[in-house]
Amino acid sequence: MSASRHPALSATDPELASFVAAEEVLQAQTLRLIPSENYVSAAVLEASGTVLQNKYSEGYPGRRYYEGQQNIDRVEALAIERAKGLFGVDHANVQPYSGSPANLAVYLAFAKPGDTVMGMALPMGGHLTHGWGVSATGSWFRGVQYGVQADTGLIDYDAVRELALAERPKLIFCGGTALPRTIDFAAFASIAEEAGSILVADVAHIAGLIAGGAHPSPAGHVDVISTTTHKTLRGPRGAMLMCREEHAKAIDKAVFPGLQGGPHNQTTAGIAVALHEAAQPSFTAYAHAVVANAKALAAALLERGFDLVSGGTDNHLILIDLTGKDVPGKVAAKALDRAGIVVNYNTVPFDPRKPFDPSGVRIGTPSLTSRGLSAEHMPVVADWIARSVDAAAKGDEPTLAAVRAEVADLMAAFPAPGLPLP
Ligand SMILES: *Cc1c(COP(=O)(O)O)cnc(C)c1O
Repeated sequence: MSASRHPALSATDPELASFVAAEEVLQAQTLRLIPSENYVSAAVLEASGTVLQNKYSEGYPGRRYYEGQQNIDRVEALAIERAKGLFGVDHANVQPYSGSPANLAVYLAFAKPGDTVMGMALPMGGHLTHGWGVSATGSWFRGVQYGVQADTGLIDYDAVRELALAERPKLIFCGGTALPRTIDFAAFASIAEEAGSILVADVAHIAGLIAGGAHPSPAGHVDVISTTTHKTLRGPRGAMLMCREEHAKAIDKAVFPGLQGGPHNQTTAGIAVALHEAAQPSFTAYAHAVVANAKALAAALLERGFDLVSGGTDNHLILIDLTGKDVPGKVAAKALDRAGIVVNYNTVPFDPRKPFDPSGVRIGTPSLTSRGLSAEHMPVVADWIARSVDAAAKGDEPTLAAVRAEVADLMAAFPAPGLPLP
């Protein structure tokens, strides 16, 4: 399979080529439910593996520190124009290497070490880079954290306001990695205005939903939008920072020369293609199908007795709380993996267990929707999850093997974008 798809690689480095071929098979045959993952199109994959890789281009289009930029400038300008059009923003920087460095650039642009910054606590669903202690953003800055209400699993905007007014943070981050509900950007905006803070919407997870009109947009409400390009947006691994014109200089200076050297032009090309794809009507349908699938899957899991944080989902993500079951998150996640269902274990809000051995499993529908599965398949998926978690509790390996075969069967009927047919 790999020899024909990657002839040069197979000839030069058969060992490495065999790893890639095995990963192709794994991605084709398994049900991938990690909500931050997806399948990029063949076009994005091609664009990300071009000779643009060979070029150094520190600076920005028209203002480079290296010559020979006539094509690179066009690639980056195209990505920028597409980002601005798709998200309705004045300015876009498409150079951040990934979501974490993009966020670090925001700190560099607006804050000084030691300044107070505010974000959602990691165990509540926030991201490391929103001022959490083990991250540079939590050790170089003074992070203060908000969370969700214990009874509803929802953000308490009054508590966020209270904390913001008491702490007057330089930066407020909204968004996260395990939030199954819609973010109220207008509410955050009024809080940030009262507190005199720069407001950052980190939409890494939901950028594709926003582009497709399946989640409200932060544009017009926030100072900076930070996003990865490889989650629901279905582009290559990378990131973008978008803002109003007034912050454009600060953001650009922070990314380069503040934090990075030469941009990864092959990634910029992949981002441009992904943004083009995301502007098509088919992507609007995709984004809505992601949410419809997540809602159908949540309903089917509830019917099978699962406890879901916040009681369900508004977006692509579901956080299963296993505290009421006999199986902790990690044991369940590993059993699901043996059943061909790839998830990640995750803390749930107010988790009684430790972060490396938490009570939750985080799942999402971006990847299965990219393969064309629809709401009618979600009861089957929920059944597989229920049987696997049950089997994990009983140490029932034959059931996990049986589910794995059923999963591979269904997956064979829904080829993944960018992958060879199984
Ligand atoms: C994924 C994610 C990031 C980090 O992106 P990386 O590319 O993994 O560095 C940042 N913020 C949020 C909210 C994320 O979900």
